[in-house]
Amino acid sequence: MPGTPVNNRNDDERSLNFWEQIFLPKIFEGLGYSFNKIKNEPVYTVEYPEEQWYPPDSYRGRPVLVEEEGSPRCVSCNLCARACPPMAISMQSKEVDSAKEREPAWFEINMLRCIYCGFCEEVCPEEAIVMSKEYDLTFQDRDEAVFGLDKLLVPVERLMDRLDYLHTYKDPQFGQEWDFQHDNNLHSLKDRRFLSWLVEEGAEALKTTHKRDEEPSAADRSWGSARSGGLDYASTEPAVTERS
Ligand code: SF4
Ligand code: SF4
Repeated sequence: MPGTPVNNRNDDERSLNFWEQIFLPKIFEGLGYSFNKIKNEPVYTVEYPEEQWYPPDSYRGRPVLVEEEGSPRCVSCNLCARACPPMAISMQSKEVDSAKEREPAWFEINMLRCIYCGFCEEVCPEEAIVMSKEYDLTFQDRDEAVFGLDKLLVPVERLMDRLDYLHTYKDPQFGQEWDFQHDNNLHSLKDRRFLSWLVEEGAEALKTTHKRDEEPSAADRSWGSARSGGLDYASTEPAVTERS
């Protein structure tokens, strides 16, 4: 009948002796083990919040926007908002007179939605949004959890740990797969040297670049062959599959 208790006692089980039945020796043995660890092991805990923990540079705390020379490095391209899995990011662009042409009129991250995945940092072409070391966030209500530019912007000097970490460990990993650095990144403000190159000689050089309504040259078509193991796409006919 359903719900009837089942006796699981195994007849082969060893019977407990008197000391095992009262459990006291094992209790004192356990306490002895604990006190031994308390006395001899290093302390791993901190007296938070009086004592703060300082995470390593690889730590992913709350995402922040890089502020450079008094304005956001962000060019309001929306890539981070598209990549954000819980759709925590929203923004509105505005045109500006500086070389970057656009920046966010407003930019918000809903910190109740953010899962600290770091995808926004991964996709940002400008290194304009990075994961900080801040991990203790408190809010009184839901509206307070929506961080605007006033809370998101952090001066670049305070984010150098993370930016150095990205340059040292993450960019090289990416570069192993792609010839990423200069040619692919011409329009990025990350490469400020590009702007001075553009002013000095780039305007002439850009006139000679391929235009969309022209037939691409062999050199253009073989672009990328170095990273595809030397395969020259310019001399490779596209595979045609006959359908029956
Ligand atoms: S860390 Fe992840 S969840 Fe948080 S804002 Fe960035 S992409 Fe969205
Ligand atoms: S991906 Fe970077 S540059 Fe683009 S909107 Fe996000 S923070 Fe700004």
